[in-house]
Parts: sequence; C-alpha cells; structure tokens
Amino acid sequence: MTASVSRSADLFRRASEVTPGGVNSPVRAFGAVGGRPRFIASAQGAWLTDVDGNEYVDLVGSWGPMLLGHAHPEVIDAIQSAVARGTSYGTPTEPEVLLAEELVARTPIERVRFVSSGTEATMSAIRLARGATGRDVVVKFAGCYHGHVDALLASAGSGLATFAVPGTPGVPTSATDLTLVLPYNDRAAVEKVFAEHGDRVACLITEATPGNMGVVPPEPGFNQFLAETCRAHGALFVSDEVMTGFRATRHGGWGLDGRQEGWAPDLMTFGKVMGGGLPAAAFGGRADLMAQLSPTGLVYQAGTLSGNPVATTAGLTTLRLATDEVYDRLGAAATTIRTATSEALTAAGVPHVVQTAGTMFSVFFTDPARRGPEPVRDFDDASAQHLPAYAAFFHAMLDAGVHLPPSAYEVWFVSAAHDERAVGHVLDALPVAARAAAATY
Ligand SMILES: *Cc1c(COP(=O)(O)O)cnc(C)c1O
Repeated sequence: MTASVSRSADLFRRASEVTPGGVNSPVRAFGAVGGRPRFIASAQGAWLTDVDGNEYVDLVGSWGPMLLGHAHPEVIDAIQSAVARGTSYGTPTEPEVLLAEELVARTPIERVRFVSSGTEATMSAIRLARGATGRDVVVKFAGCYHGHVDALLASAGSGLATFAVPGTPGVPTSATDLTLVLPYNDRAAVEKVFAEHGDRVACLITEATPGNMGVVPPEPGFNQFLAETCRAHGALFVSDEVMTGFRATRHGGWGLDGRQEGWAPDLMTFGKVMGGGLPAAAFGGRADLMAQLSPTGLVYQAGTLSGNPVATTAGLTTLRLATDEVYDRLGAAATTIRTATSEALTAAGVPHVVQTAGTMFSVFFTDPARRGPEPVRDFDDASAQHLPAYAAFFHAMLDAGVHLPPSAYEVWFVSAAHDERAVGHVLDALPVAARAAAATY
C-alpha cells in the first residue's frame, strides 16, 4: 500500500516548505513522538483514511469536536443545505438563536455570544471579566490551557503569589504581569493569592476538569471552593469548557460536579463539540454580566464570522443528536478502551496511571524514578512521565492502524461512532504496543 515515498511523506515535505513545521497547529507535527504526521484524505465514523489509503481508528477526534464521529450523515446534510443558502451574511440568522437556546438549556449560562475559536472565547471572557469588575488581575492554573491568549501563555513566577512571566517569546511581560499561575488542586495556594491580591483579581479561569495536561480531575469540592473563593473576593469564576463542554457529559464538565453541588460559574467558554467540526465557539454567563458587552454595554467585542450560519448549523445538529444514549455509548466505548489499555500495560509491566472525567480519559506513562502510581493531581505530577514509553506506544499503535494523539499530555478522544469493530481494532493493537512501551524503561 505504501509506495517507496508515500504521498503523506511527500505532502509533509512540501508543507514544510510553505508552512512552519509543515502544520497549522504545532502538536500536529509529531514533535513529541518523532516521525511525521499522516495527511488525511477522508474520514467516516471512527475511521480516518490517509492519502496513501491507510486506515486508522481515530482517537484524536479533531482534538475533541467529533463527538458523533466523522461525517455523520445528518450533520453533513444539515451543513450541505446551509451552505447552499449562502455561507455568511453579516446579519443575524435563525441557527444562531437555536444554538444559543441549546447552550442555555444545557448549561447554567443565561446569555451567550458566539465567536470562532476557543482562544477568542477565553480572550473575550477575560476582557469582560476585567471590564465588569474594573480589576486587572487574572488567576490561572499551571497545566490548564485556555488557547493562545497572550495573558494566559504565562508561566508561574518565582514564588506562589508572584506574578507570572511570559510562557513564550512574543508575549511581552506587560501581558503576563497581571497573571498569577498556581498549581492545580492546591487550595492553600488559592487562599494565599486571594489573601494577598484578592481585591485586584478580576477573575480566576480554570478548565472545568482539566484535559490539556492529560485528564487531571478536580479533587472533590475543588471547583465549588474556587467559586466560593471568587465570590468572597468579588472576583468572577470563569470555567473554560472549550474541551469538556458537551463532551465530558451532556452538561459538560459542570455536569460532573456543579450541577449536583448547586453552584454555577459566572462566565463559561465553549468550543470544539459545539461547532460540530466547523469553527464555532462561545462565551456566556450571567445576564447582568453579559449585558456589559457591546452593544448593550461598554465592553467591546465583535467578529465578522461570529455565529456563522454554516458553523452554527453544524453545532446545532451535533448537539441535537447528542442524546443521553449517545453519551452512554461513548462512555461505554471509552471505558472498554481505557480498561483494556490499562490491562495491556500492566501485563507488559509498564507503570501507568489512567484518569477519567466523565467520557474523557487519558493514560500517563509514569516515570517510576520520579513518582509512584498515585493519582496525578497537577502539572508537576503530569510532567513526571517517561516520554519515550509513550512515543514507542504511539508508533506501535499507529503502525497497527490506531491514531492516538501525538503527545503524552492529551485526552484520548472516543466518539459515539466507535462501535465494536473500531474498539476491537484498538484492543487488538494494545499488547504489541504495550511491549514496545515496556522496552523503553
Ligand atoms: C482547545 C482549547 C482552547 C482553545 O480553543 P481553540 O479553538 O483551539 O482556540 C481553549 N481552552 C481549552 C480548555 C481547550 O481545550
């Protein structure tokens, strides 16, 4: 099937001549696992087909959006009829209203505004939080990713309550010197910074249940504690559900704790699943806060393609199809895959920790010299991985036709289209891949 120089390899070579690293988002470049990305020609259900005709069970799911699997016939139909009516008007449309109603129905937000990417959603939520509170400081956690917003591409300063430093060249210190970065799941750290800076904090932003350092769930009551701490200090609690929204549960990450415990974030951000595979994202929250956005309020925010009729149609169709039964099916497939993975790794003697949050899970290939099998609580724990083990495992799986995320810090995204055949294909590949991982220790 694979010619001496595959079409994928040739495309990657050409891509690298016209695009930095040959990719349009860095993790796609396989830098963390070695080798080169596969160029995909088409996808259907749980399966990807690359330009050389190789097939893979997809456990990336476009990094989250493809909850229903690829090319779901009803989603494709809805997109095609939307496209045929024109792709953008710059004036309001019905699908925006319907999707907004769906978001308001599933989450505690009262008002929502659409944008085009998760990054835009968190950036806008932070501007609104600063505008609404008249304060400047933003608190975030190490290992939580909120898109490539300057103020959030920050690394912890030298001490707990000291302000952050830029996490990348190109971000000026003036963009991060109002950001505080804390270890996740650390109540004492949160208490300390609020005691010292509480009256300056506009908002604390966190992933509802972090998935961008692998799955690192909040310890019981942690989100509620954050909500209460923010409230006590007049700061806003911003829950970033770009990954978890309509994915971890029907009600997102909030469905894992907030819904039962009876608290709600002041602002929330969404993306990925709610765009149904097209560029759509959103931020929303309390009506009084959202009213402070232009045109009703003074906080400026806008977007030429915001609420795009094709993207909102894709998202709306996806969410309407995402019934309880879909989450059950998705959850069952995820459970089967993570249980079998853990069993295969144990059989091969590979130290690991598997963590879950609703239908999301990830596997940490532990470095036994640095830590034992205890739960991964924060970014330091997540970083204590034996990365060569994941790289070996990843490539053995890829060779066997299973496309995992090309990084050890990612959720393995399962879809409702991962049926018995697709799951069976993953399970069959595990023993060889687990032995390949074991050989790296
Ligand atoms: C993916 C992600 C973002 C950024 O979304 P983009 O659409 O890639 O800009 C923000 N927050 C979280 C939690 C994410 O997982």
